Amino acid sequence: MTDSPASSAARAPDRIDLAAAPVEGGCSSKDTMRAAAEEAGKGEILARYAADYPKGPHDQPQSMCPAFGSLRVGLRMRRTATILSGSACCVYGLTFTSHFYGARRSVGYVPFSSETLVTGKLYEDIRDAVHLMADPALYDTVVVTNLCVPTASGVPIQNLPKQINGVRIIGIDVPGFGVPTHAEAKDVLAGAMLAYARKEASQGPVAAPSHRPDRPTVTLLGEMFPADPVGIGQLLEPLGLAAGPVVPTREWRELYSALDCAAVAAIHPFYTASVREFEAAGRPVIGSAPVGVDGTAAWLDAIGAACGVAQSAVDAAKDKFLPAIRAALDANPIKGRITVSGYEGSELLVARLLIESGAEVPYVGTACPKTRWSEPDRAWLEARGVRIQYRASLEQDIAAVEEYRPDLAIGTTPVVQHAKSEAIPALYFTNLISARPLMGPAGAGSLALVINAALANQDRFNRMQSFFDGVGANENAGIWRDTPVDRPEFKKKYAARIKGLTKSEEAVGT
Ligand code: SF4
Repeated sequence: MTDSPASSAARAPDRIDLAAAPVEGGCSSKDTMRAAAEEAGKGEILARYAADYPKGPHDQPQSMCPAFGSLRVGLRMRRTATILSGSACCVYGLTFTSHFYGARRSVGYVPFSSETLVTGKLYEDIRDAVHLMADPALYDTVVVTNLCVPTASGVPIQNLPKQINGVRIIGIDVPGFGVPTHAEAKDVLAGAMLAYARKEASQGPVAAPSHRPDRPTVTLLGEMFPADPVGIGQLLEPLGLAAGPVVPTREWRELYSALDCAAVAAIHPFYTASVREFEAAGRPVIGSAPVGVDGTAAWLDAIGAACGVAQSAVDAAKDKFLPAIRAALDANPIKGRITVSGYEGSELLVARLLIESGAEVPYVGTACPKTRWSEPDRAWLEARGVRIQYRASLEQDIAAVEEYRPDLAIGTTPVVQHAKSEAIPALYFTNLISARPLMGPAGAGSLALVINAALANQDRFNRMQSFFDGVGANENAGIWRDTPVDRPEFKKKYAARIKGLTKSEEAVGT
């Protein structure tokens, strides 16, 4: 081994241009991925996603991988197999999360290598896997999902056979660079299933539903707490209507009854592809939901008008239910300032209920886009001075907590974490707010229980804050002999290096 020759020249500075290097994570080399996907023939589907799920500041995954939404819809459906095609790390994360949320069945996976990706063998592997899985004794449907890399590589998942041995095959692309939130990914699969079912129904007789109400039904669009469809059914009864299936459905034949309805209630406002199918089937679609007094009154009017119900019957329903809702709200008042943010799609509805319960709500952030189905809620909230941020980013939600210093912050995990670190009581939207009824009289009383319990925690937060006072924060938390000094320039340099590595790995796959 010889020493390197000595050089009298001064050492050249690093060539990495730190200023030009944006910090990006593993899911966010989206421009490269999108360009590759368009070149590989996925332009049409990406254009449709761009129209269905218009982007805003929140134009890339800031929470979980979007494909979790469609995966969960498939996993919750009886006699349905789900297969993922994507990077192993993505599939690991998705299966982990699905089992964390109680999936009770396996997720299929077709792995790939650079070779199977670039030679087209991956598509053949997927097709073989689908043939292996398509056992009519076990399944009605097999759903195959292309994640980011196979979508960017143009794996033609839509070319899979439409059915094998009578088992329906549904192939969808759910890339993080095309579908902004996991909420909208639910719509990608629900819409694809409705399109398939609509085609089946147009070609001949289809399976009858296991339960067929003796009156016209209203299909409910959006996952909701199990008691809510029951409560909505009670509201509809005086109108001579019944609650139909909830979409996404739990079994295939419910899709036929969902399509065979008098009207669709878009309880969650982001199901654009599903609405397209209902409208193609000639069904009227109603926005908002029966939350609180005003929301329930307006919703009953809208349903009555859409289904041709006599105004006297609508008024009778209002006379029956509105006083009960008013009484439940009055019996469970909420006092305090509350900010609301989340990615479920029901954020505006929750804010309405909070305000009718007496709370002050200055800000609602939702990861979902503005659509015509949440327009009544937007108008109602804005008339009461609420600032609504569609496609809210995490930074905007946290800024709202800082600006309004609420007595309670309802939000996603990092928003809750931030609020608690500031000694502000906080509730996780998904687990604590979505997991209770919101509609009708039951919803009016239920929300206040959890909200008031959380508001009552302020003293505990104050005690905790004074107990931990002086122990530092973030990187400096703890007791140190030499308190660490933040070195942002190192972080930038490291981020630039990671970005460079990611780019060269992507180049290998193209
Ligand atoms: S599939 Fe895409 S968005 Fe999802 S984890 Fe993988 S890279 Fe991220």
